[in-house]
Amino acid sequence: MLYLQVFTFNGFQENTYVLWDDTKEAVIIDPGCSDRQEREELTEFISDEGLKVVKLLNTHAHIDHVLGNAFVKRTYGVPYYLHPLDVPVLKSVAVRAPSYRIFDYEEAEPDAWLEEGVPVTFGDTTLEVLHVPGHAPGHVAFINRESNLCISGDVLFHGSIGRWDFPGCNFDDLISSIKHKLFTLDDEMEVFPGHGPATTIGRERLENPYVGQNGQYA
Ligand SMILES: [Zn+2]
Ligand SMILES: [Zn+2]
Repeated sequence: MLYLQVFTFNGFQENTYVLWDDTKEAVIIDPGCSDRQEREELTEFISDEGLKVVKLLNTHAHIDHVLGNAFVKRTYGVPYYLHPLDVPVLKSVAVRAPSYRIFDYEEAEPDAWLEEGVPVTFGDTTLEVLHVPGHAPGHVAFINRESNLCISGDVLFHGSIGRWDFPGCNFDDLISSIKHKLFTLDDEMEVFPGHGPATTIGRERLENPYVGQNGQYA
């Protein structure tokens, strides 16, 4: 059995996910905690549940998804996993942070690389890694087939898709990632995005105004 907790953190309203199973081993995906209160909310939840955090994973390295990386890595002494194509994105965060009035950003160095087809494991759980570029060059989604769950980052949202107007974005890649990768998943698969509420593959395949069956880019 897989369990999931979402926290919505920082000024970008980013969704941080904690995933764990019956062994109590856990991974933290995209920790966006950016101040003391948010950091305490995360660590208190983890200690209240008695979880053992074993890995830190990023779907991609945009600023809103990495603000808590250094804190999580240091607090739990865990390795940080990123797709290598997002290293330039990660490196640009320190340069851009002051323009968002973030002055205390601390960069964490990746310890291991994510790669499509190479699963990430914790406890008794296996997460498949899908490379879904377009919103960011090294963007990945994490899939668990047993629980029919997908952590989609900023690729596919409830009723929307990821932005394609940042440096490093590619519109054609984004549409292709959704149509040829995410939309091959089960209709019933629950999608937990980087912003906003959860959805399902089936709902977005039907109703998404960009990539759904009657969508603008269908
Ligand atoms: Zn993003
Ligand atoms: Zn985001």
